Amino acid sequence: MNGSIEVICGPMFSGKTEELIRRVRRAQIARQQVQIFKPKIDNRYHETHVVSHSAQEIPSTPVKDSLEILEKIYDTTRVVAIDEVQFFDASILKVLDKLARRGMRVICAGLDQDYASKPFGIMGELLAVADQVTKIQAICTVCGEPATKTYRKSLENSDQILVGEKDLYEARCRAHYDFVENKDDLLSFNVLKSIRPEYEAKN
Ligand SMILES: [Zn+2]
Repeated sequence: MNGSIEVICGPMFSGKTEELIRRVRRAQIARQQVQIFKPKIDNRYHETHVVSHSAQEIPSTPVKDSLEILEKIYDTTRVVAIDEVQFFDASILKVLDKLARRGMRVICAGLDQDYASKPFGIMGELLAVADQVTKIQAICTVCGEPATKTYRKSLENSDQILVGEKDLYEARCRAHYDFVENKDDLLSFNVLKSIRPEYEAKN
């Protein structure tokens, strides 16, 4: 059997973990041996289970880094599932490739963008090298349209990684996502208006 890398990505509250669990359950019904990993950083709900926002859960092995996945993998494993893959460092790319080359089906779920709308860690590269990508959308908390962004309600802490739930984050569409990292950004509409008065006239 040929191995492959599948990625399920999208903003928070889009159902990535639910989709991961759905694919794992189907593999289990087909009696394929599955191993599930998640990085130790994500302990929002449970240390040793992958738990979705809708409280579906499945046992998982927490690992401190990607090499620990290689150490813990069994030769008989057919499917490897990894939740919150955006928290791993760059060596995860080699590890995933290695597993796929061994003939395993690798399924990863993770945030494609951080709260500043930038590719989250290794995710840009992972999406590029994956065999199959599923990008799913949440619902904008402002307008109810499909949402592709994760909005951080407080900007007091600008670390890329700040683990939290509904108290910290919301899903937002592009129109209601107004994070501006640099107020002097040339693409910011207000700056554009000031340097090009004709822009103001037309808009
Ligand atoms: Zn919206």
